[in-house]
Amino acid sequence: MVQQDAESILKDTERTTGRSALRNNVAAAIALAGAVRSTLGPKGLDKLLVDSDGSTIVTNDGVTVLESALVEHPTAKMLISASTAQDEEAKDGTTTTVLLIAELLVNALELIDRGVHPTIVANGYRMCVPFTEQALESIAVKADAKARMEATMTALAGKGDEALRARLSELAVQASEGIVRARDNGEIVCDSRFVKIVTDRAGVINDSHLVNGLVLAKQRVHREMPKTLDGGTILILDGGIERRKPSIDATLRITNTGALEQFHAREREALREQVDALKQAGVDLLIVRDGIEDEAHQMLADAGIVAYRRVERDEFELVARATGARPVGSVERIRQQDLGTFASLREEKWHGTEQMILEGSLTQGLTLVLRGSTDTRLEEAARCAHDALGVACQLMEDASILPGGGATHVALSRRLRRHAETIPGREQMAIEAFAASLEAIPRILAENAGLNPIDQLLSINAAQAAADDDWIGLDIHTSEICNMADAGIVEPLRITRHAIGGATESAISVLRIDDVLWAKQDAQEPDWQNDEV
Ligand code: ADP
Ligand code: MG
Repeated sequence: MVQQDAESILKDTERTTGRSALRNNVAAAIALAGAVRSTLGPKGLDKLLVDSDGSTIVTNDGVTVLESALVEHPTAKMLISASTAQDEEAKDGTTTTVLLIAELLVNALELIDRGVHPTIVANGYRMCVPFTEQALESIAVKADAKARMEATMTALAGKGDEALRARLSELAVQASEGIVRARDNGEIVCDSRFVKIVTDRAGVINDSHLVNGLVLAKQRVHREMPKTLDGGTILILDGGIERRKPSIDATLRITNTGALEQFHAREREALREQVDALKQAGVDLLIVRDGIEDEAHQMLADAGIVAYRRVERDEFELVARATGARPVGSVERIRQQDLGTFASLREEKWHGTEQMILEGSLTQGLTLVLRGSTDTRLEEAARCAHDALGVACQLMEDASILPGGGATHVALSRRLRRHAETIPGREQMAIEAFAASLEAIPRILAENAGLNPIDQLLSINAAQAAADDDWIGLDIHTSEICNMADAGIVEPLRITRHAIGGATESAISVLRIDDVLWAKQDAQEPDWQNDEV
């Protein structure tokens, strides 16, 4: 009876349990990894993505491919979110993450088929994480300025052309040096979000440049205000210069002529008081989040104040950082310490749009202006700039770098195999499976370059062992097995650590699933219909 009830509850549900659920989930992971496998590394191929409305992009970026896929399978969705998390946290290594998850699962399934319980495999995998982290620390070295540039170039390998990579790497490293700062507690922060990326369809990629300051698509509120300023004092108003709203719901009843005129005069007076207060405080440049009353435009112009209104919050946060100004809630409450300073202000017209270009006195807000002749090229440049900045900024916070070209993965796998021998019990097999999974990266890199994956993997292994050098890997451009520091193929430690950690977590969570319940959906109503509105 109880059994029957349970079944009737699940009558609208498709259910797979135990081994077949796992097999199913692993198959989904392999299918998804298969979609990005061929993009890994500098010789990875591009994917042409076509949206449902027919728009296209050509990309080599794993996370871009995955995020645009209309995927239904829950395991595949989990893999995509792991890749998105990698992109958010580490800015690179997204394809690697997905490939590692799939490989960890395939190898786990093999053990499970040989009679090892999924929990044991998960335990063994989990044991590898702290060991791997320690090993990574010992393989890593500190990057100097040259190595930071090389790491940025490595992150762009296979994306865009040589000119684009070289120019963007240079600008990204320069930008990261411009925005780095030390917190009061000594912690170094370099947040790539403080570099604003704007595109300008003109010229070629080599004309891209950094503006020490911020470029905002804004125009001053009154034409009589000067178009350029050579520095001065800035106030950021987190509000507006508007008529004061009555605090109670009042109705204005006009009883005699002149009353309306009087009322307006009082209002004008209130606006004038605000403008006077600004002038008194010595404000040259005013940035306002909300509106500025039309009548106040002329008053501000007369007072010699240049004003901009409707500046978005995230933009004025950038302005605040660049100038040291602290946003104030109202004009009545200006304190001297809320004012910031700027080095210059100018307005330029870029292809029909007025741009306000503000250089702060502090070097903490920068704009990377990307130039290119077509929108496609600019989109590609913007994606590359995001990756390049991510890597360059990370290295300012933590300069640890690791060898690329599969060297790190081979070195880890060699250490893990030795470590496995010391672990009694079946977890040992899981650790060996983990070690084997890491080797997928050099194998796939070789495969994508048209080399034999097994031969290359064996050669890297042998070369590392013979020279006792963890930095030997495969240079895809020369097809040579050599020291990755000499070849300039290096990556931030943080990216590799996050990719391995994230992939392990995801693989473990798939291994723990023993029951998949699918709600049966009405075939007439695919769920993407809801997303389209
Ligand atoms: P991901 O999305 O994981 O970052 P990529 O397609 O960017 O994937 O490929 C990154 C991999 O390519 C890294 O393992 C990196 O070490 C490797 N790589 C980059 N440049 C080279 C090179 N010149 N030779 C060999 N491997 C390289
Ligand atoms: Mg990459």
